[in-house]
Amino acid sequence: MALFTAVFLFVLVASVVVRLWLFRRQVGHIRAHYDRVPEAFAEDISLADHQLAGDYNCAKLRFGRFELGWETLWLLLWTLGGGISLIDGWWLQQELPPLLTGVLVVATLILASSILNLPFDYYHTFVIEERFGFNKTTLATWLTDMLKSTLLVALLGTPLLAAILWLMSFAGNLWWLYAWLLWMSFNLLMIWAYPAFIAPLFNTFSQLQDESLRSRIEALLQRCGFHSQGVFVVDGSRRSAHGNAYFSGFGRNKRIVFYDTLLKTLSVDEVEAVLAHELGHYKRHHIRKMLLMSSTLSFVAFALLAWLMESAWFYHALGVERVATHNALLLFVLVLPIFAYFVSPLFSALSRKHEFEADEFAHANSDYRALISALVNLYRDNASTLTPDPVHSVFYDSHPPASIRINHLLALADGGARSGG
Ligand SMILES: [Zn+2]
Repeated sequence: MALFTAVFLFVLVASVVVRLWLFRRQVGHIRAHYDRVPEAFAEDISLADHQLAGDYNCAKLRFGRFELGWETLWLLLWTLGGGISLIDGWWLQQELPPLLTGVLVVATLILASSILNLPFDYYHTFVIEERFGFNKTTLATWLTDMLKSTLLVALLGTPLLAAILWLMSFAGNLWWLYAWLLWMSFNLLMIWAYPAFIAPLFNTFSQLQDESLRSRIEALLQRCGFHSQGVFVVDGSRRSAHGNAYFSGFGRNKRIVFYDTLLKTLSVDEVEAVLAHELGHYKRHHIRKMLLMSSTLSFVAFALLAWLMESAWFYHALGVERVATHNALLLFVLVLPIFAYFVSPLFSALSRKHEFEADEFAHANSDYRALISALVNLYRDNASTLTPDPVHSVFYDSHPPASIRINHLLALADGGARSGG
């Protein structure tokens, strides 16, 4: 066996073992705290709601195990099982221009993977979400969404893919630098275009109607010196009962978006506090920092791909016979996440740090008690677990666990009260 085949298999098995171990820990932790609502939440969350959240999270975790098995099986089939070679060989026989062959090989694999994942997406929406009362989507909406996103990926992705494959073949030794510049420009364009042009294809966005809420929000935006296209409400309730708020776009195109499901459950004070938190992400430059980090990482990734593309062992060790740019790109995109899995806790940690900073901003610019009650509402309505396993949390949680986050807000309030005399 080639050395890199052994390395790949070892890292793959290690990542699967770690994932299964973390699943088990999380289920165990939720089960161990199933019979009692944690004290801090005892007033606001009933035992029934707490247990519903426990059942919901365990159902998702159990299902996640099947998904992991399925994805791992297909990764092995595509690579060592010869799947990519098979698709590549078939398109090669059609004797099309090399660039077109490359695009078609990649497109075939993307399409096949999407079809293979469909049953899981279906089960998640129409069985798990449905069972716990969260699903609001219909089969028609689900199918339309799928069709629309497939068309969108084809329309936007094909020219990008063709351009990158062309650069890989014809742009000389520094192709990866040009490809990286193209990739980053494309990403920036998408971030800019998403709120105004892409998201409206799937949802209806409307200006916030409630007058009293609007004046409170405008006052807060003014106070924080934030200029945007305004605050929008999205009809998230068409698909799911889960609620959220987010920030998107940049420059003149930036928007704050509230789910209608969230507005229904929060008071004016709570909405203001959630908005202050979202503004905190912007004011503390989190969007810019994340962009800087992803551009650095993609720079390294393209440089690495440039090296691997020239190395015949990379193809052969991963079950691909023919040395070709599109095969290198496919293998790279398929195999990289397995290696990246072990550094993912670093990104989760950074994200949690940003959440603390945004909470600090919200504490300084709004009522922290309203933020705490908004969070409790969010945890309850989204059936997030209040008792995650600490190790699982370190790996996966983009947001700090409920009790830690609320204690942080309480500690800030304490410190503020003391320094204020
Ligand atoms: Zn946040």
